Amino acid sequence: MTKRVIALVDCNNFFVSCERLLKPELIGKPVCVLSNNDGCVVSRSNEAKRLGVEMGAPYFIAKNHFKKVIFLSGNIPYYCEISKRVMDKLYDFTPDVEVYSIDEAFLDLTGLRKTFNCSYEEIVEKIVKDIKDEIGIDVSIGLSYSKTLAKLASDKAKNLQKAKVEKYTYKIGYRQIQEELKSTLISEVWGIGRNTNAFLKKYLIQTAWDFVSQEDMWIKKTMGKIGLELKQELLGHVVHPVNTSCDAPKSISRSESFEEFQTDENYIKEQLNMHIHKVCKKLRKENLLTGCIGVMLRTKDFQVFDVKTNLINPLDTEFELVHHAMTLFKNIFKKGLIYRSVGFFATKLTTKNAQQISLFDGQSVLKKQELSKSWDKLEEKFGKGVVKLGSGK
Ligand SMILES: [Mg+2]
Repeated sequence: MTKRVIALVDCNNFFVSCERLLKPELIGKPVCVLSNNDGCVVSRSNEAKRLGVEMGAPYFIAKNHFKKVIFLSGNIPYYCEISKRVMDKLYDFTPDVEVYSIDEAFLDLTGLRKTFNCSYEEIVEKIVKDIKDEIGIDVSIGLSYSKTLAKLASDKAKNLQKAKVEKYTYKIGYRQIQEELKSTLISEVWGIGRNTNAFLKKYLIQTAWDFVSQEDMWIKKTMGKIGLELKQELLGHVVHPVNTSCDAPKSISRSESFEEFQTDENYIKEQLNMHIHKVCKKLRKENLLTGCIGVMLRTKDFQVFDVKTNLINPLDTEFELVHHAMTLFKNIFKKGLIYRSVGFFATKLTTKNAQQISLFDGQSVLKKQELSKSWDKLEEKFGKGVVKLGSGK
């Protein structure tokens, strides 16, 4: 396995920083930006953090508790514009950029030491400086050997800033891995959700080091492949490379008009199943999971009925999605109407490596993922339609 050098660039208090670009008078003051319709706090300046405003705090409570804090309505289109400027700047350093969210990107810096004729630390310091000088945004950069460690490193930089230390880059080198993992609670590790944390606690696994010290066998048995991958990443081995194939789709949908108008419920369900399979296949190909799915029916007279639902766990497998989709279908299908097409769509897409490990069904999800992958392979070999799902009649 080749050694990679991976950095996570994370804009500090991004929405607040954007607001301060427009209104410099806000610098040094406790400021929060609110979500849509001023529902809750989605971005906090360090001053607001120190006062104790929590992320996600409802505005109607926070405004009474924190009289000194300035609360602002969000302006997403403007933040997107600033985000684009930051991301564009990153491409000046390397083409290997994975835009991960509006204010975060992973960079694969491997080999750039020679190109820039300086150390990796110096490269990331230059990135921080250029973005500050040219765009006016502060970023923190974590530098290490895997995405998980780079994320951890950037969190460490941010913690130092919270404690008023002016440090914008943080490196976890091989010699520091053990020491860093010992001082990191497992709950602070990227991808560890509340359930997994509670489970690991029962086994007295408190720190990230406690976790990586467990036998592979045990991790595999209790947390499945995702657990083993996490251990590898924490030890500095890349499992999830920086994915530079940009333009991840925002949604995936499939629909097609029937050859003839239809009233037959079973026929329409079968077509729906076919679309679900195509969408799932695309999700797997792109390494994506969907967090929200929908079904659409169009009548002969172009009347459209659609319905969608959020999923508790993001998925990419037919076996669960068909189940959810059939429930949705029942909600909109009306006997007696004449239909011309049916469609299926998946939105709220996330990359698979950000998937939170849901402990209690981790194993069965993995099994289904394996099953779906073999389905794709069979189709490659024998052509489409070689495997069919029952339509859950
Ligand atoms: Mg951020």
